[in-house]
Amino acid sequence: MCDGGLMISFRNMRAIDVDPSSRTVRVEPGATLGDLDAATQAHALAVPTGINSTTGIAGLTLGGGFGWLSRKYGMTIDSLLSVRVVLADGSLMVASESENSDLFWGLRGGGGNFGVVTSFEFQAHSVGPEILSGLIVHPFADGPEVLRACRDFLKDAPDELSVWTVLRKAPPMPFLPEEVHGTEVVVLAVMYTGDMSDGKIAPAPLRAIGNPLADVIGPQTFVGWQQAFDPLLTPGERNYWKTHNFDEMIDEMIDTALSYIETLPDPQSDVFFAQLGGAQSRVPDDATAYQGRSAEYVLNVHGRWSNASQDESCIAWCRDLWNAMGQYATGEAYVNFMTEEEGARLESAYGSSYQRLVELKNRYDPTNLFWLNQNIPPTV
Ligand SMILES: Cc1cc2nc3c(=O)[nH]c(=O)nc-3n(C[C@H](O)[C@H](O)[C@H](O)COP(=O)(O)OP(=O)(O)OC[C@H]3O[C@@H](n4cnc5c(N)ncnc54)[C@H](O)[C@@H]3O)c2cc1C
Repeated sequence: MCDGGLMISFRNMRAIDVDPSSRTVRVEPGATLGDLDAATQAHALAVPTGINSTTGIAGLTLGGGFGWLSRKYGMTIDSLLSVRVVLADGSLMVASESENSDLFWGLRGGGGNFGVVTSFEFQAHSVGPEILSGLIVHPFADGPEVLRACRDFLKDAPDELSVWTVLRKAPPMPFLPEEVHGTEVVVLAVMYTGDMSDGKIAPAPLRAIGNPLADVIGPQTFVGWQQAFDPLLTPGERNYWKTHNFDEMIDEMIDTALSYIETLPDPQSDVFFAQLGGAQSRVPDDATAYQGRSAEYVLNVHGRWSNASQDESCIAWCRDLWNAMGQYATGEAYVNFMTEEEGARLESAYGSSYQRLVELKNRYDPTNLFWLNQNIPPTV
């Protein structure tokens, strides 16, 4: 939000048009991931997006976008075919690989810096409607061994398997013993998007690790799994997020992250490591503005709490953990997981894309009309 500026709401522009024959889908910018999943899954199709159905397709796509399907089908931007975009001078442009391809490159990772996107066209992929997914919850005390074993297994895991590690206090989930509720746990969130008949085989080594408190992996709808984490991320709470990219998960990172979980400032806060690799890592670095494809893991320090009185302690905890993990990080970072105050970090976050993004900004938005974002200031 900004004072004295203009904010455009796309709340009423959320139409989605799926063409099952070409497996393409046109999406208006007000749609959420849940809207998109519902429309595409009616045809057993899906676009790789993020892991919460309430997230907006527009901001997620423009920053890059990754989730359960990204190891198999790439990032959200890797399935983007074209966009319609209103530029700073008011003109309407189509951008794709064949039309205004420089702008198309910048819109795939460069955020809202170049214009107002009024529709996205995606290539969808065959997914579900049933997939294998669920959680494996381990006692916190077993964290060091479990996370090392998980990391070792994931090095050679198939693209169809995606595992995100969540460190947090256990919510009161019915499949967990009551005495575990509210205590620290290590959670492996797992989705397998391959043939269901292989579904028992692929994650089997992961399921054999340690002595979990619960293993609730099973068949469920893709739409249902996409909503599984929504109850933990309802709107209206206070949030402060920090992120790093890592080329590998080394023992010291595991131990550092676990040590901070012992002092979680609020039961709503958590730390997760998203495992990347797979298809998204095989797209050449210079194909899109998004950088960080070689990273194996993305860390999100997810500070979340309810009361303003906790602001200082929760933000300090996030920063301390982020600082402690910085020595292991690549320097590049996912702009959609960065807080609004991190402008100074943007050049390193974008790595080798940054100069090209500045040139695009100079060309398409020389007065920096679109500045309330992870801003790439023009230099003209
Ligand atoms: C609960 C939650 C879970 C998340 N999980 C994931 C995840 O799994 N994977 C992932 O990749 N990301 C994830 N994210 C991060 C997410 O990608 C960003 O928060 C993203 O900005 C969300 O986009 P939005 O459209 O909902 O937000 P908005 O606040 O509406 O938009 C964010 C910014 O994007 C730009 N923008 C939005 N719409 C347009 C438009 N039509 N034209 C031009 N610019 C526009 C603007 O600069 C705007 O300020 C998550 C975020 C949340 C809150």
